[in-house]
Amino acid sequence: MRGFLWAGARGRKPSKVSWDKVCKPKVEGGLGLRRIVDCNKAAVMRLIWDILTDRLSLWVKWCKEEILKGSSFWQLQWKQSLSVMWKHILKSRSSVAANLVYSIGCNSTWSLWNDPWFQNCPLFERIGNRAIYNSGLPRDTTLSEVIQDSRWNWPAHVWQLRDIAAACSDSQIGQRDAIGWRREGGVFSFKLAWESTRADVPTVPWGKIVWFSGAIPRHAFCLWLTFHKAHFTRDKLHRLGIIQSNLCPFGCGQQESVDHLFFQCPFTKNIWSEVLRLNNCPSPAAWNWENTVAWALDHSIGNRFHLWMRRSGLAASVYHCWRERNNIIFRQSVASPSVVLAHITSDVARKAAMCLSITDTPNNRSIVDNWEIEESIFRPRPGFGAGLGGAPNGSGRR
Ligand SMILES: [Zn+2]
Repeated sequence: MRGFLWAGARGRKPSKVSWDKVCKPKVEGGLGLRRIVDCNKAAVMRLIWDILTDRLSLWVKWCKEEILKGSSFWQLQWKQSLSVMWKHILKSRSSVAANLVYSIGCNSTWSLWNDPWFQNCPLFERIGNRAIYNSGLPRDTTLSEVIQDSRWNWPAHVWQLRDIAAACSDSQIGQRDAIGWRREGGVFSFKLAWESTRADVPTVPWGKIVWFSGAIPRHAFCLWLTFHKAHFTRDKLHRLGIIQSNLCPFGCGQQESVDHLFFQCPFTKNIWSEVLRLNNCPSPAAWNWENTVAWALDHSIGNRFHLWMRRSGLAASVYHCWRERNNIIFRQSVASPSVVLAHITSDVARKAAMCLSITDTPNNRSIVDNWEIEESIFRPRPGFGAGLGGAPNGSGRR
């Protein structure tokens, strides 16, 4: 996969899609792969969570006895003699602190200065040793020292603490201490930890066109490449000086580009217009990729059967047109549009019959007849099709 999509930093081959993009979740335009380095970070976070929550394990017990030796995890100093793992653990402290939500009980035993209970950062980092000294409260003071009768009671003479006292006045003091991951009472999850290691990236609207329940994986992958304009079309290869001619292999005499292939070219236009007809859709205003995307975003997302068919029809058309284009270039084999269309209808009809269970309405019946989908699609299957998507024409899908 990596070799196919990405040539590496020193590779000579141009890369199809950057590895950064590949390693994003599908909703953000990636393939949902996780980078090992990010997985490692999440795994280290898990170890810290185990220490903080006193998980019953030999390793946690050993760490407490041999490394922490009674001192606070948050205060442990970096030492050359620490193992590589513990150096990683110390480096990850602030990213773990950022995920923690502290609940404070009236007899709280959280460390006032060391635990990151206030805005995810230990107070000693915020106000420094001098202010701690001035407060008269020793370094191992618990939070209960600044709580009286379930209310905050901060030493008034330390000016560095005034802002903190003011900010705390709104936070609730409950019955018991507790620690949560990302939310009150939240438990650690590898997925949440992994997500916290990544910067927030906006989602791509087309993610739902490419990835959906029942999508054919090889079609989805080809469509995903198309959304990234990652196919090595001849205009691109010509610009890179790899080939001499940028002409469309379907022999129309025009330059081959993503826009041209999907679906300006008379050959592919013929196929795409037929797929639209099978789905009872009108012809588009413009036959290019941008317009096709705009149409798909507006008219193919949702749970209803006809929308599923539109998405599947688009993915199958892109896949088989691209495949046909490659057959011409690499195998010198030329098929007619009707042969390509037969591949599309066969793939989509088979997948629909296998995955879907819909009700027999005139709209659904018309599409099923057009695509020659097996009648069994109308047979309700236990557990499928009920209440999914709220489809007005009674369709449902797994
Ligand atoms: Zn063409």
